Amino acid sequence: MPSLEGKSAVVTGASSGIGAATALTLAREGARVVGGARRVDRIPRTVTPLELDVTDPESCERFVAQAAEELGGIDILVNAAGLALGRDLFDESTEADERTVLETNVNGLIRMTRLCLAHLRDGGHIVNLGSVAGRQAYEKGSLYVTSKFAVRGFTYALREDLLGRPIHITTVDPGLVETDFSRVRFRGDEETANKVYQGVEAMQPEDIAECVLFAVTRPPHVNVDELVVKALAQSSGGRILRSES
Ligand code: NAP
Repeated sequence: MPSLEGKSAVVTGASSGIGAATALTLAREGARVVGGARRVDRIPRTVTPLELDVTDPESCERFVAQAAEELGGIDILVNAAGLALGRDLFDESTEADERTVLETNVNGLIRMTRLCLAHLRDGGHIVNLGSVAGRQAYEKGSLYVTSKFAVRGFTYALREDLLGRPIHITTVDPGLVETDFSRVRFRGDEETANKVYQGVEAMQPEDIAECVLFAVTRPPHVNVDELVVKALAQSSGGRILRSES
């Protein structure tokens, strides 16, 4: 029997990369899944697509109300929506970029967690997509690093507040995963984005989706607090071995 038969899941960032792969994986394992993103047309059709902008409180409220009604309660929330903007020294940072990164990665994730928590059934699970950037800083990524340290702080603070309640919480912290992440980070500059994945075997979104699946399929008395997963050729966010080409 599929491991998530009878469960329901909400996945943010379901239009691309890790969120899309996670939505597909949870659905493959039998869960009924609602996926949210702004580009609703890109959400895999095997899940229920709903429009969501995590930076917009009204959009989040509407999305969660619709998702909870569609699913009749939520067992799993995966907060995968997120982004980075630029790889520059902090001196180059702008008010607009700072706001976008923190609103999306931090406020958006916190907002979605608060709204979904009200519908989370006993035995439920919240999975946050952190990053190795939230564990060790690297150069020219100050806002992204800041946002992911905040995600890890929030995950552990919530772990404290949830203690005694039958709700699990996990941060999955990946290293290099080949997705549209770099295309977004470099504002559509394909050549620079592609270089990030050249000369190294990066992880694929499905590798991370399997980590999420592992976390949410442990026995009820087990909480996987954190999963840190990197490409083999990577020891930190800033250190990646690349072959000459
Ligand atoms: P991706 O392919 O660019 O996907 C990002 C997703 O986030 C998209 O579905 C996007 O959907 C969604 N998103 C962005 N802003 C949003 C908003 N305001 N409202 C709703 N959805 C929004 O990147 P990814 O690599 O899969 O990233 C997923 C998560 O993994 C992020 O939190 C990222 O920080 C984390 N992560 C990635 C890596 C990596 O190497 N790729 C490593 C560590 C952690 P729309 O644009 O359609 O709204």
